[in-house]
Amino acid sequence: MNAPFGRRLPQCPCCRSPLLGWPPDTRLRSCNACYRPIIRVPSIRHAGVSRLCSLLDLGFTIYGVLTLILVATFAFSDMSALRFAKLFSVLLFVVGSVLIVEGYLSIRTKVAFGRRRIIRGQAAYWVGVWRLAAGVLALCLMLVGLGI
Ligand SMILES: [Zn+2]
Repeated sequence: MNAPFGRRLPQCPCCRSPLLGWPPDTRLRSCNACYRPIIRVPSIRHAGVSRLCSLLDLGFTIYGVLTLILVATFAFSDMSALRFAKLFSVLLFVVGSVLIVEGYLSIRTKVAFGRRRIIRGQAAYWVGVWRLAAGVLALCLMLVGLGI
């Protein structure tokens, strides 16, 4: 191994495979095993330490937080239903894009991620097909929402 003594190799946050050859000045790269995009984020607690996050998980998180903010804003303000539908359509674009990429990568690599577990083989392929279909459906709903 080329790792310095006493230091662990960085692992993919998705499939836990070792990430070899990460250039020091690069923030974004893909995993060699599952092809998921991984971003290096500086740690808030420790200076000089970075954390690896899946960019797709970050997209799901951003979608969830923005959806909560949008629903709370709609409930507690005088936002019109039309504006709510249009803003929700924009959020559907975010989740639809993430689902399409996640589905495509699951079909290509036959590695998918469920709730805290890794799915491999033919089951991962079908998870990818369903995620891809859900992503296409979300983009269709986005078009309908923007056309209102
Ligand atoms: Zn990986």
